[in-house]
Amino acid sequence: MSNVVVIGAGITGIQTALDIAGHGIHVDLIEREPSIGGHMAQLDKTFPTNDCSMCILSPKMVDVARHPAISIHPCAEVESVEGEVGRFQVRVRKSPRYIDEETCTGCGDCIQICPVEVYNRFDAGIGVRKAIYKPHAQAVPDVVVKDNNHCIECGLCYDTCGPGAIRREDEGRELILDAASVVITTGYTVFDARGKPQLGHLIYPDVVTSLELERMINASGPTGGKIKRLSDGEVPKSVVFIQCVGSRDMTIDRQYCSCVCCMQAIKNAMLIKEKSPETEIFIFYMDLRAYGKGYEEYYERAVGKGIRFLRGMPSDVIADRKGMTIQIENTENGEVLLLHPELVVLSVGLGPAEEMPALARKLGFTLEDNGFAKPVNDAVDTVATIRPGIYLAGTVTAPRDIPDCVASGGSAAMRAYIDAMRVLSA
Ligand SMILES: Cc1cc2nc3c(=O)[nH]c(=O)nc-3n(C[C@H](O)[C@H](O)[C@H](O)COP(=O)(O)OP(=O)(O)OC[C@H]3O[C@@H](n4cnc5c(N)ncnc54)[C@H](O)[C@@H]3O)c2cc1C
Ligand code: SF4
Ligand code: SF4
Repeated sequence: MSNVVVIGAGITGIQTALDIAGHGIHVDLIEREPSIGGHMAQLDKTFPTNDCSMCILSPKMVDVARHPAISIHPCAEVESVEGEVGRFQVRVRKSPRYIDEETCTGCGDCIQICPVEVYNRFDAGIGVRKAIYKPHAQAVPDVVVKDNNHCIECGLCYDTCGPGAIRREDEGRELILDAASVVITTGYTVFDARGKPQLGHLIYPDVVTSLELERMINASGPTGGKIKRLSDGEVPKSVVFIQCVGSRDMTIDRQYCSCVCCMQAIKNAMLIKEKSPETEIFIFYMDLRAYGKGYEEYYERAVGKGIRFLRGMPSDVIADRKGMTIQIENTENGEVLLLHPELVVLSVGLGPAEEMPALARKLGFTLEDNGFAKPVNDAVDTVATIRPGIYLAGTVTAPRDIPDCVASGGSAAMRAYIDAMRVLSA
């Protein structure tokens, strides 16, 4: 037997699967969501090159789906992993999709006819989706999913679907997979900004998070790429970014730096300037961390475009009928400013993926105090866990950018490949 199970199909899991399968070892790629792609599918451009995120990710998603040595399992989660390195048995639960994946052509006729609109998690809450939906336009697999928590069983989609792909009954199913090794790439979640209510997220309509802004900037997102105030649809003449929301903050027990937020804010500030050069933009920060290759130059470009960086953190965002007010002390010169931004962007930090304690128990690895997965050695072995044959890659261990995720995926792939080859040569 030579098989590897990869759990989580963001950019890290996708790259890990491609690297292992490229060496002729079969991979089962398990993804909880109805489509693979993870957070990178939500981004517009990527720093520091400003390449279109989906232009990089989408071909990899298609490669994974077409690869003869990779089986993807969307809507699936691992229930248990028994055995030992070289001879694991992985029990997987596939949740009901209420769609026959083989029959659905992805035409979208059912989506058009469905009368129910609900909160759209992929668009970070801006805009809506139907009760039967495709996670996004370039979803892989290219089939819909029916959300039975919101479906009112009106019956319209069943009548519309030519090939008859929609199922009233679907119990899901269980898979038992053999694996020489397992790689965990379950990624991160963004900080819920309601944890800092003084900053006004979900209280004032024109306070958005960085992920919501990504969806707004994206031409295929809910606003068609228009940066606008959610209160009245107008283009904001002034935008303020507040950094480290949910990072480096002892008051909410999140001491660590989220690594990507400084660069992400610089990127999105420049993208706003490109769309609307007259918009005034401030970035309020504690420290600016432009540590990677080409990152300092990227920051200099932003300064050259007129984006203003101010060292200081506002304690709150206040709003009345006239608009929003932020009072801020520039800690470099003691000057106190009173600003009236038309849009406030909270650069939310990265936290551990949901349900990490349960996953750690099932797979037998340990967690850091901050909830991320713990590698055996942060200096010299950043992919192995305390359970031989179970590896970690990407943001499951700590916040990191995409190039780092891809590199760690390659490294975990090599370890998993060696385990699989040992089985073959035994
Ligand atoms: C606003 C914002 C902008 C950013 N911009 C950039 C940028 O421009 N450039 C850059 O380099 N980085 C950027 N980043 C960081 C980038 O998003 C991450 O580096 C990268 O997407 C992490 O990929 P990942 O595969 O490790 O995790 P994820 O993308 O989180 O993927 C994890 C996958 O695992 C799945 N999963 C989770 N739990 C389970 C489970 N129990 N079972 C099965 N599947 C599971 C998830 O559904 C998901 O598909 C940005 C981040 C944010 C928040
Ligand atoms: S379920 Fe039917 S109507 Fe809906 S996308 Fe699939 S084939 Fe088209
Ligand atoms: S049956 Fe459900 S999913 Fe289908 S159209 Fe009606 S509400 Fe939408």
